[in-house]
Amino acid sequence: MRLPIIAANWKMHKTVKDSLQFAEEFIEMLGEDHKGIEIVICPPFTALYLLGKRLRGTGIEAGAQDVFWEEWGAYTGEVSPGMILETGAKYVIIGHSERRHILGEGDTAVNRKVKRALASGLVPIMCVGETLAEREEGRAVSVVRRQLEEGLKGVELLRPHLVIAYEPVWAIGTGVNASPQDAQEMSRLIRDELGGLFGVEVAQEMRILYGGSVNPGNIGGFVAQPDIDGALVGGASLEARSLADIVKQT
Ligand code: 13P
Repeated sequence: MRLPIIAANWKMHKTVKDSLQFAEEFIEMLGEDHKGIEIVICPPFTALYLLGKRLRGTGIEAGAQDVFWEEWGAYTGEVSPGMILETGAKYVIIGHSERRHILGEGDTAVNRKVKRALASGLVPIMCVGETLAEREEGRAVSVVRRQLEEGLKGVELLRPHLVIAYEPVWAIGTGVNASPQDAQEMSRLIRDELGGLFGVEVAQEMRILYGGSVNPGNIGGFVAQPDIDGALVGGASLEARSLADIVKQT
C-alpha cells in the first residue's frame, strides 16, 4: 500500500508571516482528518524554519523547493541539504519545470541534486514533464524517459525514498489539467521505467504524483488512477481552505 502524498509547492509566494498564518488556518481546518495521507508544504526558504517548527507534531511535513549539490563552500545564493535538514524539513522538490525552463537547470544538475539529497537523508520529489511543443511533436514519452534516466543516473535506491512528480509543463498554472487517463498512462510508464532502474519491488512502493492545475474539483479523478499516488499542487495550495479540500478529496 502506497501512502498518498499531497504536496504544496508555494513557489515564490508567502512571507514568513503569511506562512505562519496559513499554518494556523490549515491546521484548524484539517482537524484530525488526515490519517492515511502525507501532507507536505514547501514554502520559500525564508519561511522554512519557522513553518517547519510550527508544523512539528501535527503530522504535516515541510519541504524545500530546491537544494544545492554541495554541503559547504563558495556557492553564493545556494542552500545545502544539511541546512535544509536542520530546519526539520524532510522533502525537497528537485528539477521543477520552472527551474528547468526559467533558470536553465539541466538533467545533470538535477542528477547531482538528487544524489546529494538522497545521501543526506532528504526525500527528493523529482519533477519530470514535457512541454506543449514536445507533446505536439509526439515526444512526450521520450522526453520524460530521458529526464528519468538522466536525472536518476547512478542513483542507488534500496528503499522507495524518492518521489516522482509528473508535471506536464503545459498544464502548470494554466488551468488546463491533463486528463486523468493521460496522466495515468504517463505514470504507468514512469513506474515501468523506475522498475527497470531500481527493480519492480522498489518501483511498486514509490509514489508518483501528478501536478498541473490540480484543484479540489479534479483531484479525485487523479487519485482514482492506479499509478497516481497524490499531487504536487501550486496555485490551489495557497489558500488553506482549498488545500484542505484537496486533502479531503484524496
Ligand atoms: P499549478 O497547480 O499552479 O498548476 O502548479 C503546478 C506546479 O507547478 C506544482 O509544482
